Amino acid sequence: MNAESSIFTKIIERQIPASIVYEDEKCIVIKDINPKARVHLLIIPKKEIPTLFDLTPEDRDLMGHMMLLLPQLAQSQNLEGFKIQINTGEAGGQEVFHVHIHLLGN
Ligand code: AMP
Repeated sequence: MNAESSIFTKIIERQIPASIVYEDEKCIVIKDINPKARVHLLIIPKKEIPTLFDLTPEDRDLMGHMMLLLPQLAQSQNLEGFKIQINTGEAGGQEVFHVHIHLLGN
């Protein structure tokens, strides 16, 4: 493979630093380096899927796993409510082509 790993894969592999909030066998959660809210986390699958357009049925459990994690993360950050965002494709404002969920709360 010639394709370079995404910046998030480099974080997962500890090649570059990040503020890691949570990690398990399927995903990692980091603080966004340029927060748009008091709490701004990125939930990132360890599998490097470029965009939601690239999901396959085998990713069903992985995506469900990350969804179930959201309320737990929010509670651990003392949030009473939160918003999520998944930018998809260049036209959708995506900058890092490795699927991630933004969790935002104040
Ligand atoms: P998106 O437009 O959804 O692809 O957003 C990518 C997000 O990743 C942006 O909110 C960036 O601030 C964030 N980001 C980029 N590089 C890093 C990094 N090294 N550590 C933490 N967050 C990052």
